[in-house]
Amino acid sequence: MPHKPLARSKPTSRLPDLPPLSFKKADLALDIRRHFNCTLGRNKFHKSAYYSYAALALTVRDRLMERWKNTQYAYKDTDCKQAYYLSLEFLMGRTLGNALLNLGVEEPVEGALHDLGIALEELIDNEVDAGLGNGGLGRLAACFVDSCATLQLPVMGYGLRYEYGMFRQHIENGYQIEEPDHWLRNGNVWEIERPELTVRVRFGGHTEYYEDHDRSRHVRWVDTRDVLAVPYDIPVPGYRNGTVNTLRLWKAAATDEFDLNEFNAGDYAGSVAAKNSAEHISMVLYPNDASENGKELRLRQQYLLASASLQDIIRKWVARHGEDFSTFAEKNCFQLNDTHPSIAVAELMRLLMDEHDLPWDEAWNITSRTMAYTNHTLLPEALERWSVRLFRQLLPRVLEIIFEINARFLAEVASRWPGDLDRIARMSLIEEGDEQQVRMAYLAIVGSFSVNGVAELHSNLLQQGLFRDFHELWPHKFNNKTNGITPRRWLAWCNPDLAALITATIGDRWITDLSELGKLAPYADDPDFRERWRQVKRANKERLVAHKKAELALEVDPDALFDVQVKRIHEYKRQLLNVLHVIHLYDRIKRGDTANWTNRCVLFGGKAAPGYVMAKRIIKLINNVATVVNGDPACDKLLKVAFLPNYRVSAMEIISAGADLSEQISTAGKEASGTGNMKFMMNGALTIGTLDGANIEIRQEVGADNFFLFGLTAEEVEAARAHYDPGAIIEGNEDLKRVMHLLEAGHFNQFEPGIFDAIVQSVKSPWDPWLTAADFQSYVQAQRRAAEAYRDQDGWTRMSILNTAASGKFSTDRTIGEYNRDIWKLEPVPAPSVE
Ligand SMILES: *Cc1c(COP(=O)(O)O)cnc(C)c1O
Repeated sequence: MPHKPLARSKPTSRLPDLPPLSFKKADLALDIRRHFNCTLGRNKFHKSAYYSYAALALTVRDRLMERWKNTQYAYKDTDCKQAYYLSLEFLMGRTLGNALLNLGVEEPVEGALHDLGIALEELIDNEVDAGLGNGGLGRLAACFVDSCATLQLPVMGYGLRYEYGMFRQHIENGYQIEEPDHWLRNGNVWEIERPELTVRVRFGGHTEYYEDHDRSRHVRWVDTRDVLAVPYDIPVPGYRNGTVNTLRLWKAAATDEFDLNEFNAGDYAGSVAAKNSAEHISMVLYPNDASENGKELRLRQQYLLASASLQDIIRKWVARHGEDFSTFAEKNCFQLNDTHPSIAVAELMRLLMDEHDLPWDEAWNITSRTMAYTNHTLLPEALERWSVRLFRQLLPRVLEIIFEINARFLAEVASRWPGDLDRIARMSLIEEGDEQQVRMAYLAIVGSFSVNGVAELHSNLLQQGLFRDFHELWPHKFNNKTNGITPRRWLAWCNPDLAALITATIGDRWITDLSELGKLAPYADDPDFRERWRQVKRANKERLVAHKKAELALEVDPDALFDVQVKRIHEYKRQLLNVLHVIHLYDRIKRGDTANWTNRCVLFGGKAAPGYVMAKRIIKLINNVATVVNGDPACDKLLKVAFLPNYRVSAMEIISAGADLSEQISTAGKEASGTGNMKFMMNGALTIGTLDGANIEIRQEVGADNFFLFGLTAEEVEAARAHYDPGAIIEGNEDLKRVMHLLEAGHFNQFEPGIFDAIVQSVKSPWDPWLTAADFQSYVQAQRRAAEAYRDQDGWTRMSILNTAASGKFSTDRTIGEYNRDIWKLEPVPAPSVE
């Protein structure tokens, strides 16, 4: 019998979306086993816990996927304005724990694992840190994307997918040894490759001019050596709100025609070599913190990030709006994390003019209304300059555009200050000299509508100093956005016991509104609460000691004052000043000056840039002093010193929870903000610090009585330079004199003659930029106040509670709220609920 064919929708290769996955314990357990057996192809004979971790991570990732998809649908449907955070660094650390916390699935996951006979903690330690950053700047980017997702702001992070992240640090005979960090060796379950979104980035070649049919002049950039940029997306979940934003990281890859051309010429090996050189671009993170890199490959990295990201965004725009860019600036905003991606200013001009036919004025109008620049440093050695010669060779078309931007800008300067040639030379994007250089910070300022520093003091110093001329020309561009940290990772996740005590006391709203922590302040007067607070801190100190047992190889008394300085090793951060104090304490012990002593455990940690000789020598000094102190029975319980190797995000999660005293002792006027200071404060440590960076605001929030202040102010530092005489300071201070004598006598390098000479010289030099000797006495006095305060455990705990209670300002939720209010102006987009 003939029958009607079934009614069918038009055939398509697309699959419909999957219905939501369950969060029930039993379903989670089943998925973990399915991923272990099916996705990963492992069985019960596999011993390595890594694959159990991966199976759990994939199970969690599945739950992120549907929220991710829905969030992206919502952004598309609402056609909302979006912001893009461009950064050469994202120091993400581990993802699993944070994803569990933000999804709110810790409990059922722990239940599921328990039923499978596995402890969550052991799996978590199998994840390698994503160390795609050096320090504070990269970690800030990571905290920012967390807050953007939590605030449901349509913000996407763009970065590079380095094959090798920040090097791993070993200590051998007291010296730093660097080991490559091949973090992708076992794969990365958190990334999704999107080859369909690959873009082409050009290098080299030259430019040609041609006339259109309508006689308009155009430029072609030809004979280029192209590289492909392939995006890898990483989900960024908000805190229990259904939003999952995207961090898109570019990997460089060879184009196919490269291979073909050379293959046809019979040079198969040569074609593979070319492929390699293309892929080198995203091979390795440059390990220099707060100093220039200056290498051609670094400029290639910067351009790859800028060009690929802008092309990606413009492609999305054209797919929706065609070639109509009239509302582009109302719908898009780019935040440049330092000058590293600032070539984006010229690249956006190029794309709009050369690829999309916009005239200069329209392209400039769009560019200068969409770019915003964040400065991160006042150190002149960190200000990026690229030689014009290198630029011309690598990016000839981009250089032409920079010259044109400069010509038009200098005309504006000349019309504002007629005849002021000095000023024109000072403000030019091109620095003259033996070799012409492009000043990237100036390019960023000229091309942006907003320029911000990262703490009040830093923003003020920028306006008065480094960028003074620009501030005079465009005062409205300048603003401050004091840094923060995400309270999810840096309190809720890394300090579960303290988080539980806080939540039991004031409820859990603090997790998304950190100003709520202020409600803890009255409890500082409650003896029961203080006792519980003290017990949590004590348990966290034990956890820190247990975690670091193998590395420490020494007995530490958890009741000692844990005095901690962890951060990149840099002279301006003055780890050396801390060491001088440790030597002073050792000297006091040896002289028998130990009445009313406070037992102290001084912990250091941090990586030195591999080429930074002085920083590496300071690590050696710390380790040698530690050997002498820890090996001396007279010091026994009174003083311990340790260097914790391979400082990184996952280490800081343990360290910040277990610290009593936070060392923030930079030369005033040199630390832009600091964020380590905020992590310690939030976890109940007290700060000993100078009036530098965000320390000033920390002290303002917590009150002068709960902060150990010392040292010259930024203004005093600058005034002191002219007549700085460390020789006289050392002569005039018996304590410092004795410390210097121990160093000069080679007491800490008895079988290694001369190795600390350069360090001794730096302290004694009238040109010591960090004025270490100038602050010694004041520092020692502040340390005495801290030691005395610690002897009153009740009083100390009170101050500890008040520090956490006053840390509300330092949430990146507040910081991002300000970026959005003043710069991005995005509407939050609620995510559709999944259930
Ligand atoms: C927070 C953090 C930093 C920044 O520390 P500062 O003390 O502000 O320099 C650097 N590295 C890691 C791993 C961090 O977590």
